Amino acid sequence: MSTPAEQTGRARAALLDRDGTINRDTGYVGDPAAVELLPGVARALGALARAGYRLIVVTNQSGIARGLFPPAAVEAVHERIAALLRAEDPDARIDAWLYCPHHPEGRIARWAVRCRCRKPAPGLFERAAERHRLDLARSVAFGDAERDVEAARRAGVGTTVRLAPDGTPSAADHRARDLPAAVRWWLARERSVERSRPERDAP
Ligand SMILES: [Mg+2]
Ligand SMILES: [Zn+2]
Repeated sequence: MSTPAEQTGRARAALLDRDGTINRDTGYVGDPAAVELLPGVARALGALARAGYRLIVVTNQSGIARGLFPPAAVEAVHERIAALLRAEDPDARIDAWLYCPHHPEGRIARWAVRCRCRKPAPGLFERAAERHRLDLARSVAFGDAERDVEAARRAGVGTTVRLAPDGTPSAADHRARDLPAAVRWWLARERSVERSRPERDAP
């Protein structure tokens, strides 16, 4: 199945932080059995997918460099999150998982480097755009930390949303208390942009 975006070129994406955005952030999440989705996230992701967005996770996983868990544990956590999402909303399918395993002060030499992908660096977003032919300017990023916002902005993502309590200072374009509220805001805004267009594209 192809969407109009695919026919004309680059796709729009929702670029999502993982811990604290999709699942509860209990600190260095490396055990799939301990994964817990945040409330309403599956339906929010399903709504984005139904609106034509690719769902792409971009996550710092320095637990790998720190020697807390291997890459296979991160991948097992991703499989678990995918299964939990699917169980709640069959449309909530993550199209790609990109993670940074590095940390400059890590214990494992191979990953103890200053990389270009650890947020707030923009590398994961740039890799996602290349691999999945994304139109970043027409995409949206959601994250619960300011480094998520900074990384997305540096990569050229058109809209950034920070998940944070009211009053938290942020360079993001919008702030919302959680992902479901953020997605409601974004999709409502998209609908109002659609309505305000003087001419609609022919089908
Ligand atoms: Mg986070
Ligand atoms: Zn990295």
